[in-house]
Amino acid sequence: MEIIETERTRHRRLREQGSLDGDDLHAILADGFVCHLGVVVDGCPMVVPTVYGLSPDREVVYFHGSVASRSLVASPETTVCLTVTHLDGLVLARSVFEHGVNYRCAMIYGVPRPVTDPEEKLAGLRCLTEHVTPGQWDYARQPSRKELAATALLALSTREASVKIRTGPPGDGDGPDARLGVWAGVRPLRMVRDELEPDPLLPDGIDIPPHLR
Ligand SMILES: Cc1cc2nc3c(=O)[nH]c(=O)nc-3n(C[C@H](O)[C@H](O)[C@H](O)COP(=O)(O)OP(=O)(O)OC[C@H]3O[C@@H](n4cnc5c(N)ncnc54)[C@H](O)[C@@H]3O)c2cc1C
Repeated sequence: MEIIETERTRHRRLREQGSLDGDDLHAILADGFVCHLGVVVDGCPMVVPTVYGLSPDREVVYFHGSVASRSLVASPETTVCLTVTHLDGLVLARSVFEHGVNYRCAMIYGVPRPVTDPEEKLAGLRCLTEHVTPGQWDYARQPSRKELAATALLALSTREASVKIRTGPPGDGDGPDARLGVWAGVRPLRMVRDELEPDPLLPDGIDIPPHLR
């Protein structure tokens, strides 16, 4: 699938890092846990970190929170910008000017839709939980009616999006600074799932379930 550019998503600077490949967009969304929701609340921009889930057809990003959350209450009334960023490496160049980062980043624009249909709400919350830890929705207790009523779920279409990706070494290896004798390269960074830390209050006899091993 190709991403359709709009006036809002058209890359202007560092255009060579832009991608119009829908698979790049979906890979960035699939790889992340946290997005940043940019929304104007009472005339002031807020950028709120929050977890998200991608619908199985990859058409919608779901995010949720308390029904009292100001950013969630304001979101359906305005265009928001939701970003997901992966930091893949520090680019250490010969000159300070050429330093940078390797990254994969997506920005999605739209007016989010509050999800009120009970079936879709459960399905969306399932998406969110499964996105973070597959298998956990069926393993843990699912939300009660009271918990569902206290939770706002919003759906944002992935239709209007832009993607930027930088990979590779610093850009000054073939310029005049190459003669400086300064070491240059990339410090790769990655996020890892580390060893599980059991809750100290866990009673004996509760083993780690297979989906978490
Ligand atoms: C971790 C990280 C660190 C960065 N650090 C710097 C930095 O220190 N200095 C710097 O100049 N740039 C940095 N960038 C790049 C930065 O995000 C912008 O792409 C760049 O600054 C161009 O901004 P602009 O406002 O001129 O974008 P424009 O080209 O005017 O933006 C036009 C449209 O392109 C899209 N777009 C722009 N940036 C991105 C993006 N990152 N991801 C997806 N879509 C995008 C948006 O839809 C935007 O509306 C960084 C990016 C990442 C991910």
